[in-house]
Amino acid sequence: MGAWASKSKNILDSHVHMGPISDEKALLDICAATGISRMVLVAIQDAATGDGLPQALYMKARHPEKFYVFAGLNHGARLARVLPKAAGEVSTPSLARQVDSFVEMGCDGIKMIEGKPTWRQTLDIPVTDPYFEPYWTRVEEVDLPLVWHVNDPEEFWDPELTPEWAKSRGWGYGPEDVKKEDLYAEVAEVLRRHPGLRVVFAHFYFLSADLPRASRFLDEHPRVNLDLTPGIEMLYNISRDPEAGREFFIKYADRIVFGTDIWSGMGTAAAAERAGIIYRWLESGDTFTVGEDADFLLGGPEDGVIRGMSLPADVLAKIHGGNMTRLAAADPEGRPGAAPKPLDLAACIAQCEGIAAIAEAISGQSAADPEGRPAESEAAMVARALRKM
Ligand SMILES: [Zn+2]
Repeated sequence: MGAWASKSKNILDSHVHMGPISDEKALLDICAATGISRMVLVAIQDAATGDGLPQALYMKARHPEKFYVFAGLNHGARLARVLPKAAGEVSTPSLARQVDSFVEMGCDGIKMIEGKPTWRQTLDIPVTDPYFEPYWTRVEEVDLPLVWHVNDPEEFWDPELTPEWAKSRGWGYGPEDVKKEDLYAEVAEVLRRHPGLRVVFAHFYFLSADLPRASRFLDEHPRVNLDLTPGIEMLYNISRDPEAGREFFIKYADRIVFGTDIWSGMGTAAAAERAGIIYRWLESGDTFTVGEDADFLLGGPEDGVIRGMSLPADVLAKIHGGNMTRLAAADPEGRPGAAPKPLDLAACIAQCEGIAAIAEAISGQSAADPEGRPAESEAAMVARALRKM
C-alpha cells in the first residue's frame, strides 16, 4: 500500500532538516510526494563544520515562498574549549548579537536543541545559565518564535526500554546524565523569567504519555505550543485513549502544529510514509501500524498500534498550517499562504562567511577533509552561490 495522503491542500511542516545543498531537488521532490506546500527548515548549527544554517538560507533564497528558516545558535567559542581537536581560541558573536543577525537576515524564527540531553553531554550549560540570559531577553524583545527540542522520551533513561534505533544514535542516558525533570524545571524557570517568549516545543514536549500534565503546561503558559513531530511513542501513547486524545486536540487546536522531522536525504517513499502516518492519525478513524517504507527512526509495525482521531476540518486546518503560519509569518493575521519574511542576501552572505571562518578556526584548517567531505564547506559554497543571485 502507498502512503496515506492528506486531504488538506495547505500544509506547513514546522520541522524539517536540510542536508547539503546538493539535496535541493530531493527536498522539492519530498514536498511533491508528501503534499507539503511549505516547510520550516530548522537549522541547527554545527559550529565545527559550518553546516546547518547556510543550507537553509540557500533554500529560502532559492524558493522564497516555500521555505521558512528557523536559525540555530553558534556556540563555537564555548565548543572550542571542550573539543579535543579544536585549535586554540575561537571567537563567536554573543548569543544576543546572533539573534540580531537572524533578524537582519530575514530569518523567521530560532531553532534550539539546547535541552536535548545529548547537547548537555557536549556542552553542559543549562539554559538558566548567565551565558543565555541576555539572549533570552533579546529573543523576547525581537519576538521571534522558537522551535525548541527539550528532553527525550522517558524510555531513553532506561537501558531496558531504550529502542535500538535510539541507542544506535547514542540517545540512551544513564545516572551521570541530566535528568528529565531537571530539564523541565530549567525550561519552567526560563519561561517564568521571560513570559513573552513564543515557543513551539518539539515532539509534544515528550508529554504524550501524560495529557493532563500537557494540558496544565499549556494552561500555565499561554504563549507556548506543541509540535507533532514524532517520536513515534507520541502516536502510540495517545492512541491508548484516542477519545481523550481527540478532546485534547480539539481543546488546544490553536496550540498544536504539524511537523514531521523529515530530512532532505531520506528519500520520497520514506518521507511520504512518515508524513502519511501523521496525516492518517489526525484525519482518519483507522486503526493501523507503521508501514514497510517507514524509516528506521519510526521502528517497526510490531512496536504498536495507532488509532486515528478523525479530527474536524476546522481543527485540522489550524494544525496543518494555520497555527504555524500565524506564529512564523511576517503577516500577523497568519492568512493561509502568507509568505516567509524576505531575506537580506548581503546579510546572509556575511553570516555564511562568518560561519565558515568559525569552522576553520575550530578545525584549524581551511580544507577539512578527513571524512571525504568536499574541500569547500557548505557555508563557503552557499556564500558563493548567494553572491551570484
Ligand atoms: Zn528535528
